[in-house]
Amino acid sequence: MAKLSILVVDDESGIRSGIKRILQNFVVSFPFMDEDFEYELIEVETGEDAIEVINNQLIDIVLLDNKLPGIEGIEVLEYIKKNKISTSVMMITSYASLDLAVKATKNGAFNFIPKPFTPQELRTAIESITKHLFLKRMTKKMHKEGKQIRFQFLSVLSHELKSPLNAIEGYLRIMQDKQIGDNIGDYETMISRSMERIKGMRNLIIDLLDLTRIESGEKKQNLTQVNLVEIAQLAIDTIEPMAIQKNVKIITNFPEQEIITADINEIEIIFNNLISNGIKYNKNDGELEIIIKRENKELKIIVKDTGIGMSKEETAQLFKEFVRIRNEKTKSITGSGLGLSITQKILKLYKGKIKVESEEDKGSVFTVTIPLN
Ligand code: ADP
Repeated sequence: MAKLSILVVDDESGIRSGIKRILQNFVVSFPFMDEDFEYELIEVETGEDAIEVINNQLIDIVLLDNKLPGIEGIEVLEYIKKNKISTSVMMITSYASLDLAVKATKNGAFNFIPKPFTPQELRTAIESITKHLFLKRMTKKMHKEGKQIRFQFLSVLSHELKSPLNAIEGYLRIMQDKQIGDNIGDYETMISRSMERIKGMRNLIIDLLDLTRIESGEKKQNLTQVNLVEIAQLAIDTIEPMAIQKNVKIITNFPEQEIITADINEIEIIFNNLISNGIKYNKNDGELEIIIKRENKELKIIVKDTGIGMSKEETAQLFKEFVRIRNEKTKSITGSGLGLSITQKILKLYKGKIKVESEEDKGSVFTVTIPLN
């Protein structure tokens, strides 16, 4: 439950206590808000006191009477505007004055409420301000997150591309100076290491491109009949060299075929990410089991490994962009931290889900569920 603070500025104690009664247990919720709002009330009698409160604490909403003993409500409003104080003002006016309404609107009043008002009128007004405040906060948050993601994008790019570039440059320099011999064969290890680093860079760029295309909605789905078993086998073949290197046994539990309507590239991304993670984060001599099955009009892809696993806190973060778990066990494993977030975004296009169960040092089980229709 989120709390909004309301400053009630009125010299009539009857009005103040009335407002308090009406809003005390009032809760606003809209289907699009992830949290309900309740209100905390602060009361003052004069405009001067109102200014003091506003200057000393964050007030979300000001319910402001115009006719006050000292300075008028409209002057408090002018003060708020002049000092760029972030708060939403609802003027309480005892009579309809066009002049006051124009002046108040010019000074940024959010709305008016006539006096006397019914409890329902007050609640509706508060509801409308709350919705407005919520949307304003969300816009700000999205803007901030957008900036943060752009920044992460650049830092991942510069960091993850810089080290392979440096390595390749180093190897090329050694070759240019013929430091270890005149024969191309002398440089075989360096050439294959360079190729490895180039492959890593290419994968990162592919991940980033996939992400931006999905994010911007630019990626057009090309739906055809896709055999999941075939795609899974292809992903296994691609990762096989690493599996052999780590001596990880791959066990498949597939039906003869499993055909769904989907975009083949997207399905490839899902299998590639889950299967390559299952090998990358596995232990030497471990196992990776991949299951494809139908269950209650749903398609399930289960990828089970006997790898390093994760803690509960870590699993909660996994599907966010650029999240990589950094510890001793993952130190030497390269990646962009994008694969799972891309996988999740693709699954959303199919109204599908992905979940993970994991135990540290035991292994992880990733389960993808896609509704069949
Ligand atoms: P990347 O592997 O490129 O870093 P992912 O988005 O695929 O990015 O995964 C995010 C993080 O989740 C990884 O950095 C790793 O720490 C963790 N992770 C993913 N799959 C597994 C797995 N099967 N076992 C343990 N940790 C995993």
